[in-house]
Amino acid sequence: MSKRVVIGMINHETNSFSPIPTDLERFSQRVLGFGQEILEIAPGTHTGLGGYIDAAGPDVQLVPAVAASAVPSGLVTSEAFERVLGELLETIQTTLESPGGLDGVALCLHGAMVGESFDDGEGEVLRRVRELVGPDIPVVATLDLHANMTEEMVEAADALFGYDTNPHVDGYERAVEAYQALEDIWSGQLRPVMHLEKLPMMPPTINMRTAEGPMVELFEMAREYEGESGVVNVSVFGGFPYTDVEFAGLSVLSLTNDDADLAAEEAEGVAERAWEIRHQFLKELTPPREAVRRAVEAESGPVILADVADNMGGGGSGDTTSLLIELLWGKAENAAFALIVDPEAVEACVAAGPGEMVGLSLGGKVCPEHGFPVHCEGIVRSLTDGMFTNKGPMGTGMVTRLGRTARVDLGGVEVLVTENRTAPNDPEVFRHAGIEPTEKDILVLKSRGHFRAAYEPFAAEVIEVDCPGFASPNLDHFVYRKLRRPIFPLDEF
Ligand SMILES: [Zn+2]
Repeated sequence: MSKRVVIGMINHETNSFSPIPTDLERFSQRVLGFGQEILEIAPGTHTGLGGYIDAAGPDVQLVPAVAASAVPSGLVTSEAFERVLGELLETIQTTLESPGGLDGVALCLHGAMVGESFDDGEGEVLRRVRELVGPDIPVVATLDLHANMTEEMVEAADALFGYDTNPHVDGYERAVEAYQALEDIWSGQLRPVMHLEKLPMMPPTINMRTAEGPMVELFEMAREYEGESGVVNVSVFGGFPYTDVEFAGLSVLSLTNDDADLAAEEAEGVAERAWEIRHQFLKELTPPREAVRRAVEAESGPVILADVADNMGGGGSGDTTSLLIELLWGKAENAAFALIVDPEAVEACVAAGPGEMVGLSLGGKVCPEHGFPVHCEGIVRSLTDGMFTNKGPMGTGMVTRLGRTARVDLGGVEVLVTENRTAPNDPEVFRHAGIEPTEKDILVLKSRGHFRAAYEPFAAEVIEVDCPGFASPNLDHFVYRKLRRPIFPLDEF
């Protein structure tokens, strides 16, 4: 008798400080598919859904429910949340009622999704799935390394697997593991027991890469524990601090075969070490004026000024202006700036046309607390459709869509002004508009760290700048109302 497994993806990293609502439109701009459509997009991809599809044997029928993912932005609207979750629940219900019945649910989730009506988005997803399937049908899921974990998620699921990499390149592998857990539960080889250890710490995401910094040691410990008998998985979640929920922050989750004591011991072991090395998660940032002065005085270039706080990959608005203002004040020369998201300014540039002067009120429109529009005059050097193919190591071969894009010359600084929010992680962002980034003295990138793979080989220096923004590593910039306190690094310990 063949088994039947409902698969689905609901993925959003919610920056609750961003006023930009995450509605169905935002999901459809990235990924939004229902039912059989998913089997047209997911197979053969190195993603979680691709992993489930490859892992399922010929005697297993996968029932695709929903695939939904949006770029990090503000709260997920109730309409969007209920639409995507509703589709998942309906598929589960139909499968349950069909003659073959349902044998398992395998999901790709994030872990830091916040809805208008739910702080714990994934807790709500898993709770409602469990309610529907009852206690005996196994529910497994993969989670992002930036998940803000809760006991509700752990209680509602049988087995959860967090990404082991940042940048995240192992969604596929984790799904294969999660699928294996399903098989082992069916065969009776696995009686999963999980233990979640949470700490009073919520580090910024700036130093959470798994190739360097404190995460290296924590994942080494996790892997060592995973080698022990009876241990299935140990996940380290760095957490996502740009969301004001009670439970945000770092946690460790262990999964053993029917051994609660062992699960607790392992999770506590890694958590203890995370606490000991907590200060390593913090990084000194350079104030914008000093950063610009250093870049202007540098003997070789290009010097990269990373506007990490306005990283659009972490929910940044992409339109903060403090670094642009400092560059103009600091009389920077031969500088290129990627980028300012401002559809109105793009419209003005299009109206003016290439080679023409244009007066702009540029950026600073999403959040006045993060700075104001820059009133300036410049020359429109070029206009593009904002489409290019990534040639760097991140997302190689993928097409980036900036929307209509204007290259505006403000004197010493050339600014790319776009319609869409996308972190400029690939140097083609400049080249497609006619700027050769290797020949510039200063490059401004609104990105936290993913840019490094492509830019570090030719950059003279990278300076991480302390500007305001929805993704600032300086957590003192945010007003938390729901977050549990005291918590590191906001409070003294
Ligand atoms: Zn992440």
